[in-house]
Amino acid sequence: MNTFSLYIHIPFCRFRCDYCDFFTRTRVAPVRQREIIASTVRQALDAHTTWHAPAPHPGTIYVGGGTPSALDPAAAELLLEGISALRTRLAVHGVSTEASSTAEEIEEITVEVNPEDVNPALLARYADAGVTRLSVGIQSLREQVLRRIGRHTTLDATRRGLETVATHWPGRWSADLITAIPGDDPDGAAADATELLRFGPRHLSVYELGIEPATLLGMRHRRNAIPPISETGQIAQSQAVSDVLGAAGLRRYEVSSWSLPGEESRHNLRYWRLAPWAAAGPGAVGLVPRGGGPEHVTVPRSFPRFLSREDFGVHREPLTARDLFEETLMGGMRTTVGVNRTRIEAVFGRRMETIIPDTLDRWSALTHAPRAEHLALTADGLLLLNRFLVDAFAELDTTASLLRSPPAWPDSASPDATAT
Ligand code: SF4
Repeated sequence: MNTFSLYIHIPFCRFRCDYCDFFTRTRVAPVRQREIIASTVRQALDAHTTWHAPAPHPGTIYVGGGTPSALDPAAAELLLEGISALRTRLAVHGVSTEASSTAEEIEEITVEVNPEDVNPALLARYADAGVTRLSVGIQSLREQVLRRIGRHTTLDATRRGLETVATHWPGRWSADLITAIPGDDPDGAAADATELLRFGPRHLSVYELGIEPATLLGMRHRRNAIPPISETGQIAQSQAVSDVLGAAGLRRYEVSSWSLPGEESRHNLRYWRLAPWAAAGPGAVGLVPRGGGPEHVTVPRSFPRFLSREDFGVHREPLTARDLFEETLMGGMRTTVGVNRTRIEAVFGRRMETIIPDTLDRWSALTHAPRAEHLALTADGLLLLNRFLVDAFAELDTTASLLRSPPAWPDSASPDATAT
């Protein structure tokens, strides 16, 4: 079943973290925030009414950023009213949010929050607006690490926020953790994971710290002002966290994602399984069907352009069959269940064995079939995901012309997002 999924980008933060290269702006005046959010809501509503997928069942909404929880209060209210309006609009389009279970309608609305922003009143308002899931940006539960990565918060505020979510939030929630931190060690990383689990998250996203050139951390790295970290050191920290999470009964279902059974991020699963999704808000990117083929829709980062154009200034870029196949591999092979071979054949008109035969041969010891019809990397193989992709993409130089063009996407066989 194809579903309506929507990513809403909120491009505002109070401060920029030293490691962050996401598209976000700090210290934006409340009046400007309100203008941007009002247009973002209009774009979100418009995205649904112009949705071109064959079976527009409502599905998931993800509000990320940026820091949605740090919005000016009036702008935040505009956003929540917009989410409510979107739910109503979906009902008008023939699928009642009242008549059938929420799981079949908008089965998941996630909002990213920072722990220092949350309080019981805000959480109650989120729940009232239909938000079902929070993604809480923790990153570390050690003061010196928060300082080292340039996170503008305190350990007290972080713990208080976690306690508030654990006590007052009625829905599902996830926490983000960062590993592979220069100057850190596996024991420290494991201590973070252990303490975080005491607050009861049933889903964790664990990211290795990337040192991006255009960040303060990148600048310090170039000046040798932060300790070096080897690949072995990075892996040791990540492994220490994996050991803690595994021992607590969570299981990895994607390179960076761990959950208890049934607690997976349904929105993210749709990305990785290449279901279409719409985009709203400056800097957001979507992948939608249009005119018989897939296309990327990129919302401009320029606020004046976004505000002044009737079409929000979006840039549309058609994807070739090869582009889409690469995206299918990039998303699907991140997950522990892998890509669905039958679906590949249905969409691209060729079997995996025809499209990337040499890669399948070369990687046979590090791939397996966790489920009939699937191809996935083993746990050891996942550590080498990028190398697998490089091999597969290189092979496409000679086989891409075999792919059906345009691909039969989105297809009625799009996988059930809840099945992992
Ligand atoms: S809060 Fe998140 S989006 Fe904002 S600067 Fe920090 S890492 Fe980037």
